[in-house]
Order: sequence, then C-alpha cells, then structure tokens
Amino acid sequence: MTVHQLHVEHARLFQNNRFVYPVLSRRSRGLSIGVNLNPDKVCNFDCIYCQVDRTRQSETRFVEIDGLLAELGGVLDFVTSGAIFETEKFRETPPALRRLNDIAFSGDGEPTTYKNFDEIIAACAEVKRNRGLDDVKMVLITNASMFHRPHVERGLATLDANNGEIWAKLEAGTEEYFKLVDRTPIPFRQILDNIAAAARVRALVIQALFMRVAGEPPSAAELTAFCDRLNEITAAGGRLKLVQVYTVARRPAEDFVAPLSDAEVNAIVALVGARTGLPAAAFYGSGD
Ligand code: SF4
Repeated sequence: MTVHQLHVEHARLFQNNRFVYPVLSRRSRGLSIGVNLNPDKVCNFDCIYCQVDRTRQSETRFVEIDGLLAELGGVLDFVTSGAIFETEKFRETPPALRRLNDIAFSGDGEPTTYKNFDEIIAACAEVKRNRGLDDVKMVLITNASMFHRPHVERGLATLDANNGEIWAKLEAGTEEYFKLVDRTPIPFRQILDNIAAAARVRALVIQALFMRVAGEPPSAAELTAFCDRLNEITAAGGRLKLVQVYTVARRPAEDFVAPLSDAEVNAIVALVGARTGLPAAAFYGSGD
C-alpha cells in the first residue's frame, strides 16, 4: 500500500468513526480529538441551548470499548503523523494550529453517565501513554452531576494522573435559573457540592454559558448570585483555574434562545473578575 493509499484508508476510517472524531478548535489553539461516550444521545440534563440533535436517532446506541479504542489509536496516529492535514477538511488548517492539544470527552450527552466511565478513561489514557503523548491533555467536559459516584471519582483521578483537565459547567446562581436553563430534576445544590468537592482535589475550569432566554439576558441579580456561588466554592477550599464565559454558537435546541452580544459577554467576564478575583475569559458566539 502506498503512503497515499494509507492516507485514503485512514481518511475513510475516521470519516466512518462512531465514537472518535478530530476537530479544529480555536479555543484549544489546535486539534482536539473528541470522544463521544453517549452515542445513544441520552443526557441527564435537557439544556435549552443544547446543540445535540435528538430528533434523529443515532445508529450506534452503545459504546463498544474495543471499537472506541481502535478509533482513538487510529485518529491519534493520523493526527500525529500529519496525514490529517492532507485531507480536504483539514488542508486549510493554519500552521500555528497544526498541533494536537487534547483528547476531549464530551459528545452527545453527559460523559460521566456512561457506566464504564472509569474503565474507558483508563484505557484511553493508556492509548495516549503508549504513544508517548504526555503533553496531550485529556479534557472532560461535564455537567458535574455525577462526580459523587465512586466510578466517576476513579475516572477523575485517572484524568489527574494523565494530564487531565475538568471543565465543569456552571451557568446559574440560583436554583430557579438553573432549572430554567438546564432543565433537570437534579438539585442545584448537588451540582454545587460536586464542583466544590472535585475542586478541592484539583483545580477545575468552569464553563459558563449565558444567553438570551425569550429575549432576556441573565439579570444583574442572577449574575451576582453566580459570582457568589463561585466565591462559595473557593471559600470551601475549591480551586478554580479559569472561568470560561461563553454564549450560544450553533443552532440551539429551543428557538427562544439567542446569543449575547460580544459586549455582554465581556461585561460578564469583567464582573466575574471583579467580584471573584478569578481568571475569566470570553468566548463569543462563534463557539470552538
Ligand atoms: S448537559 Fe450538555 S449534552 Fe446534556 S443537555 Fe446540556 S448541553 Fe446538552
């Protein structure tokens, strides 16, 4: 097989992947390899801004560990060899972004609801380690609802040992707004306690998505309450290394949801900085 054929094979391989897919991420300043642990598209939240299309059934309903690991190894090799930049989709990647930043566990639902979460994290870490990719981060993008479960705690510890980073979502200051935006029966207090407990073990990144709901941006009182919740987490010994403030980018689940303007996002970043002293960064309506 020629090198070119090999590349074609690889391209075909990753385009048919069910669990693992490379994306160019401006936020990560490089490539991010996404791992979808929720091919069934089930989530324990039902966020009004969610971009997962749940009107269409996915063909793959269960994670097949061996298949997922094979896809991960294949995509890692495809990216680290540079072959990916010969494909049509990635040919225009600017030189500065031609680097692999992370493997990100996110996908079409909440990744920590996957019952073998600890096993799959450990196995993916091994695939990365075997390739000597210690600098490549493992990012968990999560709603923090399951941190108190032992198998999730084990998975988080494995992430810590493998250049992991946890991006926990928090985008409300009050139970009422939390229920309005995230639409889950899980109490807000559980999420706050989980974030505080996890942040006492390692520094977390907070992902806060704010938007217009039926034309209304979050009220000043809500944003103040949001900052108070962050302050409570740090007062309880939690470490937060960054608060990412962003807004809806792609088509959200509900048509009463709309993005904030760049100025509104900037104002929230300034407020978070002033009221909490935490580093905060803005991400605008264009998403990744
Ligand atoms: S937690 Fe994430 S996947 Fe689940 S509904 Fe919310 S945005 Fe969608």
